[in-house]
Amino acid sequence: MSDLASLGYNREVFQPEHEAFREVVRRFFQQEVEPNYRRWEKDGFFPAALFKTAAEYGILCSGIPEEYGGGGGDLLHQVILHEEHGFSASGASLEAGLCTELASYVLLDGGTEEQKKEWLPFFASGKGIAEVGLSEPGAGSDARAIKTFARRDGDDYVINGSKMWMSNGPLISVLFVVAKTETEGNSEAISMFIVPFEETKGITVSKPTPLMTKGCGGVSEIFFDGVRIPARNLVGGVEGRGLHCAMGSIATARIATAARCVAACELAMALTIDYTKERKAFGQRVFEFQNTQFKLASVRADIAAGRALIDSYLKKLNKNQLGADESAIAKLWASELEARVMDECLQLHGGMGYSDEMPISKMYSFARVHRIFLGTSEIMRSTIARSL
Ligand SMILES: Cc1cc2nc3c(=O)[nH]c(=O)nc-3n(C[C@H](O)[C@H](O)[C@H](O)COP(=O)(O)OP(=O)(O)OC[C@H]3O[C@@H](n4cnc5c(N)ncnc54)[C@H](O)[C@@H]3O)c2cc1C
Repeated sequence: MSDLASLGYNREVFQPEHEAFREVVRRFFQQEVEPNYRRWEKDGFFPAALFKTAAEYGILCSGIPEEYGGGGGDLLHQVILHEEHGFSASGASLEAGLCTELASYVLLDGGTEEQKKEWLPFFASGKGIAEVGLSEPGAGSDARAIKTFARRDGDDYVINGSKMWMSNGPLISVLFVVAKTETEGNSEAISMFIVPFEETKGITVSKPTPLMTKGCGGVSEIFFDGVRIPARNLVGGVEGRGLHCAMGSIATARIATAARCVAACELAMALTIDYTKERKAFGQRVFEFQNTQFKLASVRADIAAGRALIDSYLKKLNKNQLGADESAIAKLWASELEARVMDECLQLHGGMGYSDEMPISKMYSFARVHRIFLGTSEIMRSTIARSL
């Protein structure tokens, strides 16, 4: 049997404190997620309480300073949480999962001191579940085409519009809504607002949208009908910086997602080696066919290249030296690597690879979204091309 327990460890980029953090996150998945996720799939989403449990393990907002209730770690702690979704067979089912820290980083980078103190401890405790709401039915890649509008009305803003594809939709308690504002006569300015759902009138959250992956993450459409929020909930206190706020954190989320893709590839390869060593055909183990060994050798070589790229970028990330073009390269390369690896690994499982019983089938279908969300592969290529 493959040594699944060793996956992810002993990499030059990580220090002993990162390795210790990984152990805690892995224990969380083994004890809290893996025994339950099949049951949660029947509901269509995992319970909000999982965030509180994650906070008790100390793994939420690990890269946020302690003064704001976070773990006081660095961006690599954050990446480890993403990677561990990839290293667990349950991770594909959780979909975006516990990686809602995108919103926390938006605040850390662009929020006012008052906003950081008010909201970050809420997210770090797992009581508040936050997501960034950019995409709409008519706008995804073309973020400037959003229609949601926030009109200033005295000490408030009034928001009308809708957001689509909101990850963890049924559980969200605070959405960071990207909306157009009338700023100095320009009605195309884009700003960002902290919209708490509790006790705010005019918000409707749809039932989870049925997805290709039958997981328990849940993605919803969210409607705003005259939603009134205080003006102090304008992120950073300045209009017109909504896309800037979103894009800074999205670059970090892209490299973290790339790391998750490579982790999932490593798990898929290990599961496939184990399966092909057990399964027999024509009187021998499937692993003994030269075709199987050549395919797995190619998979291993591909993963080694991906791992080298991602770890070199993670080093740059932790020194704040990673460019937006490089995080796009990481996501483009790793998500396309993941597609190839999942396809080969599923094929080597034969019919069982297509069964929901085997982790590889969900890993295969979930992998598909990595070429779409947080910017499609085409948008990654456009971002890279701008740096040429
Ligand atoms: C499961 C899931 C979870 C998601 N979670 C969130 C979330 O939490 N928050 C959020 O804000 N969004 C979320 N999204 C939305 C996601 O970010 C968008 O779907 C994605 O950015 C693509 O936008 P779109 O769907 O509008 O596709 P479109 O922009 O309509 O793209 C259609 C096609 O056109 C191509 N295309 C578009 N523009 C160009 C161009 N300039 N050059 C070449 N090709 C182009 C695209 O690459 C794609 O192939 C989620 C999506 C999914 C599926």
